[in-house]
Parts: sequence; C-alpha cells; structure tokens
Amino acid sequence: MKSVEIAVVGAGPAGLSATLAAAGQGASVALIERDEHLGGQLVKQTHKFFGSARQEAGTRGVVIARRLGQAVREQAGIDLRLATTVLGYYSDKVLYLEEPDRLAKLQAERAIFATGASERMLIFGNNDRPGVYGAGAVQTLMNVHGVMPGRRVLMIGAGNIGLIVSYQLLQAGVQVAAIVEAAPRIGGYLVHAAKVRRAGVPILTGHTVKEAVGEEAVEAAVIWRLDEQWRPVPGTEERVDCDVICLATGLSPLGELMWQAGCRMAYVPELGGHVPWHDDDLRTSHEDIYVAGDASGVEEASAAMVEGRIAGLAAARSLGHDRDVEEKLGEARRELAALRAGPTGEKIRRGLESLRQGGDGR
Ligand SMILES: Cc1cc2nc3c(=O)[nH]c(=O)nc-3n(C[C@H](O)[C@H](O)[C@H](O)COP(=O)(O)OP(=O)(O)OC[C@H]3O[C@@H](n4cnc5c(N)ncnc54)[C@H](O)[C@@H]3O)c2cc1C
Repeated sequence: MKSVEIAVVGAGPAGLSATLAAAGQGASVALIERDEHLGGQLVKQTHKFFGSARQEAGTRGVVIARRLGQAVREQAGIDLRLATTVLGYYSDKVLYLEEPDRLAKLQAERAIFATGASERMLIFGNNDRPGVYGAGAVQTLMNVHGVMPGRRVLMIGAGNIGLIVSYQLLQAGVQVAAIVEAAPRIGGYLVHAAKVRRAGVPILTGHTVKEAVGEEAVEAAVIWRLDEQWRPVPGTEERVDCDVICLATGLSPLGELMWQAGCRMAYVPELGGHVPWHDDDLRTSHEDIYVAGDASGVEEASAAMVEGRIAGLAAARSLGHDRDVEEKLGEARRELAALRAGPTGEKIRRGLESLRQGGDGR
C-alpha cells in the first residue's frame, strides 16, 4: 500500500490551498478528487468574485480555479489523483479509494477533508418532476457544458446564489419568470438583486413554491404567500408558467467521511448544519484529521482558501515541517479574521462561537 504524509480530499479552493501550503512546507501530499478536473465549485463560477482583494476579489471563479490548479501541477511532491473518490477512512490511517477501474488503499499520517457542501432540496408537491433542478446543477449545465436548462425558469431563493444564477440565466438567453424568497427580505447582496431587477425580474419576498404542475415534466409552478410565521396563506396561490424550477435554498456541509471516521460532529445552523468540531488550526476531535472550506461550515471561496492554507500548514507542522510556520499561520489567521469582520461575517462568527461550545452535540 502506498503511503503519504498528508492526504487532502477534495480539490476545490480549500483542498487546492491546503495542498499548496502543506507541500510548500516540504510534506509529501496526495490530493484526491472525484471529478476529472481541479477547482470544485469554482469551475462553474463565471462571474467576478466579491470579497477581499487578497482572496482574488474581482477575478472570475473559473480563473481562480485555473491559477490554483496550475500551481498544484507545478509544485513538486504532490501525488495528484483525479477521478478518484474517497469511500472511507479506517483505522491505521487508511483511506479507501475508488479509482476509475479499481479499489485502492492509501495510508496517510494526516488527512484534510475539504469535501465542500451539497445542495438542499425543498419539499413541495411534484418536486420529483423533470425540470426541478438545484442551482449548482443549472450552473454546471450552463457554464461547464454550455447547455440551457430550459426556456423559462422560476428561481427559488434570493440569496447570493439565487441572484447570481438568475443573472447568468438571463445572460444565457433564458427567461427568469420571478425569484421567490420565503424570508421577508432578500438575503443576497443588494448589488446582485439590483442587476436582476433592472432586467425586469420580480423578486417576491414572503413567498414560496406550493407545487410543480405537469405530468411528464414541469409546465408551471404554483406559488403562494407566507404569513409572518412563515405559514402559507390559502387563497393566495398564483400560477407561474415555467419549464424549470431552480432551487437555490442553501447548502449543507458534506461531512459523511468525518462522521464515518468518528470525528465529533455538532449541529450548528449558522454553519449550514452538521459540521465537525474543530479548533483554530482546523483540527477536528480526531487528532489526525483536519477539515477546511465549506465542509467545516458553509461560507465562501475566499474563506475556504484561507482555511485550506491554515489546515495545510498546521497538518505539516504536526509532522515536523515547521519552517516559518508560525509566521505563516499568524498571517493566515489575520486574513480570516478580516474576512469575517463586519456585518456580513456576523452569522459565521456566531456559528463558530456556538461550535466552540459544542453546538448541540449531535
Ligand atoms: C452560484 C455560486 C456563486 C458563488 N459566488 C462566490 C463568490 O462570488 N465569492 C466567493 O468567495 N464564493 C462564492 N461561492 C461559494 C464558493 O463556491 C464555495 O464557498 C467554495 O467553492 C467552497 O470551496 P470548498 O473547497 O470548500 O468546496 P468545493 O468547491 O465544493 O470543492 C469540494 C471538492 O471536493 C470533492 N469531493 C467531495 N467529496 C469527495 C470524495 N469523497 N472524494 C473525492 N473528492 C470529493 C468535490 O468533487 C469538489 O471538487 C459561490 C457559490 C455558488 C454555488
């Protein structure tokens, strides 16, 4: 069985940054990614990023993915395994891998799980009809494969993802019938909301979808109003003609591998659901396992990159690769604190505070 000092699982912004940081310290690193490409979510993000200049604000996600990917390919000491899914983490620090044509094992002194997040589904009538998509799937179809998901979309969710994907749909020549948002106000940045409104798309706050209409595929949606307690108000139903209902209703951290490895998990709504307990070094309750990016709490690519750097440096340090490491860690921690300062970071700060106290311990 092959062995390595550090195995990084997931090649999104967090995993790529963790890999570069650990390999830069001189550790031998394996980067394992189930897709055939590097970049995770970034490969479908054709818009210019918001956030901090130090974390590439103003650059398109797809360009950031290319830059990080190239740096990983050029860095010595990295065993890159694409189209390989990690199935489990077992005793003796062994990862089980599903490669394209065989199962394999890899022994790693430390593992960094940077597995990202999955999209949340919404419960409503006929939500299994063809034409009901997650926003990530719509982005993949449009921005990776160049395929229009449909002709007229009803978007559910007015957070940044719902607003950005709506705008990208308009750019691709798809009509957006409306954006429906259950909360009484828009959750995303108002600059994104203003863009879609200027294009004539109504944003209906305090509304949700009741059901999809259509036997073989979506032909329309029925929406209705919610009262202050978020209860649907009978009699307020409205039909919206559309062939796609796109759900941008949030993400949940992908923590299965860490559940399975025995890391202590906590339920923290502000971080997106169940996340592994972790300290400031991103080390979990399992001393050989670190976490980074959306898997540690749903946030943004900017934070994912800095978290990856911290986890990579800390894991390398734990194996004796400690050249200038305190200085680098200090700098990364300051960057992360700056990203989370101010009103937009309030939710994450609250979530991390709750996590430090153990969440609800489930
Ligand atoms: C529409 C949209 C717009 C966004 N806009 C911005 C923005 O402007 N600015 C910003 O900062 N952020 C933005 N984000 C958020 C950003 O994309 C994510 O926060 C970021 O990609 C998280 O990085 P990550 O590395 O944690 O996870 P991901 O990018 O999700 O990467 C996780 C990787 O792990 C792999 N993986 C998972 N499980 C396994 C396994 N078992 N074995 C092997 N590989 C595995 C996956 O295939 C994936 O490649 C946006 C997100 C969306 C959806």
